[in-house]
Amino acid sequence: MSATEFDIIRKYFSPDIVREDVKLGVGDDCALVEPPVGKTLAITVDTLVSGVHFPTNTSPGDIAYKAIAVSLSDLAAMGAQPAWLTLALTLPEIDETWLKGFADSFSETASDYNCQLIGGDTTKGPLAITVQATGFVKPDQIMRRDTAQPDDKIYVTGTLGDAALGLRLLTQQDVSDSIESYSIQRLNRPEPRVEFGLALAKYCRCAIDISDGLNADLGHILTASSCGADVELDNIPLSEQICQYFNLSGGSVDWGLIFSGDDYELCFVVPEKYEAAVYELAENKQIPVTCIGSINDSGLLQWFDKSGAEISVENTGYKHF
Ligand code: ADP
Ligand code: MG
Repeated sequence: MSATEFDIIRKYFSPDIVREDVKLGVGDDCALVEPPVGKTLAITVDTLVSGVHFPTNTSPGDIAYKAIAVSLSDLAAMGAQPAWLTLALTLPEIDETWLKGFADSFSETASDYNCQLIGGDTTKGPLAITVQATGFVKPDQIMRRDTAQPDDKIYVTGTLGDAALGLRLLTQQDVSDSIESYSIQRLNRPEPRVEFGLALAKYCRCAIDISDGLNADLGHILTASSCGADVELDNIPLSEQICQYFNLSGGSVDWGLIFSGDDYELCFVVPEKYEAAVYELAENKQIPVTCIGSINDSGLLQWFDKSGAEISVENTGYKHF
C-alpha cells in the first residue's frame, strides 16, 4: 500500500521536541507554545514555488535549507531570535528519496538555528514550500522599516548580486568553476544574518533584509520612513568572484544583476554616532559591513558615482506580478 499523508508526516515531519517552550508539537489540531514573558513575538511566512523561486532541478536539500533561511532572514531583519517553525508542503507526488533529502536538510537546518518544527500542512499539487517562522524580540530592540531619519548612515552586510549571478550561470556557458560554484552556493545556501541582526538590534532601529534587491528594499525603508537617500554606487560591496565575472564579460558592472535580489543580506540604517559600534560588531561577528550612503529628506533614492555625478539605475528589483 502506498504511503498516506499521515505516514509522511509521521516519518519525516514529527521531530522530537527539543525546546522547552513547545508544550505540544506535530500531531494534534494545533501546536501549543509558551512565549517568554516580556518578549514580543515576531512572525513571518514565505512561500517558495518550484520554477519561480528556485529552478525545478534544485536538490531537495537545498530547497529545504533555503525555505528556512529566507524566513529566518526576515526574523534577522527585525532583530528577532528564531524559535518555532511551521511547514506547509505541497507535493506533486510522494517520492520518498526526495522527501528524505528534504526532511534531513530541514531538520539539520532547523537544529542549527535552535528552531523547532511544531506543525504544518501537507497537500497535493505543484511543488511549493511555505515556512512560517516565529521568533522573539525585546519590545525596545526592534528593527522596523519606518524609523530611518535624515543624516542616518546606510549599511549593508556581505556582498550583493552573487545569488543573481548564480542563477544566471545555471543557464549560461560557465565562465570559471570557482566563480560558478561560489555564486551557486550563494543562490542555494544564503546565510540568514540571525546572530548579527540580534546584536545589531541593541542600537539599530531600522533594517530590512535584501530579498527583492537593494534598490527595491532600500526603497521600502524610504517609503515607510518618508525619507530619501543618496547612495554611492562604488561603495556597494561586490565579491571578488562577481568582479572577476564582470571583467571576463566586458568590464563594466551590471547593476541590473546586482539589484536583482535573493541576497538575504541586511540593509540597515543607524545614526552616524554608532559608526564605530557597527564596525566593532562586524569585526566581532566576522560579518563584513559597508556604509553605502546616507538618508536625507529628499524623498528620492539617488545613486552617484565617485565624482558625484548622478547615475540612473534601472528599477530592476524582483517583482512577483
Ligand atoms: P488538520 O486536518 O487538523 O489540519 P493535518 O492532517 O493537516 O491536521 O495535520 C496533522 C498534524 O500534522 C498537525 O499537527 C499538523 O500540524 C501536522 N502536519 C501536517 N503536515 C505537516 C508538515 N508538512 N510538517 C509538519 N507538520 C505537519
Ligand atoms: Mg491540515
